[in-house]
Amino acid sequence: MRSRSGEVSVIGDPVLREKGRPLSFPEDAAMIGELLREMFRILEREEGLGLAAPQVGRSIRLFIALPDYLEDLKGHTVFINPIVEPYGDMETREEGCLSVPGIYETLDRPSRARITALDLNGKEFSLDVQGLSARLVQHETDHLDGVLFVDRLSPMKKRFLRRKLRKLRETSD
Ligand SMILES: [Zn+2]
Repeated sequence: MRSRSGEVSVIGDPVLREKGRPLSFPEDAAMIGELLREMFRILEREEGLGLAAPQVGRSIRLFIALPDYLEDLKGHTVFINPIVEPYGDMETREEGCLSVPGIYETLDRPSRARITALDLNGKEFSLDVQGLSARLVQHETDHLDGVLFVDRLSPMKKRFLRRKLRKLRETSD
């Protein structure tokens, strides 16, 4: 099953469980440009903060972010082949995901992260981020490894959500 163009893949879609392929420059540049236009359109329409390529059915290592609430990203909106190194104290925050609609749960993750990625031109950059930005880069990079935020919940919370998640998986078939 493949998500239709313009739609966000929902939990149960196997593409969300694949490990994304790294991108190469300049070979992938044209494909990336086209995909980004679609991804930004979807992200703005869905009013999300971030969106990873597997969520639009593409198993590649790329995510985007809308910088409005994410000052630490210093205006960067495109993250290609990102490497995230989390550090610092654990922090509890609520998370949600366009691929797990209607479910918002608090989750502990490290409060800071260093992210190194390529920009749209294939140029490498690094940022040290905290707060919501640190949360976002960890969540989005998980998507590129086939991991969803609900996988990281405690066994008790998972048990509590089991029925809701099963329903989402069934409707995505
Ligand atoms: Zn997500």
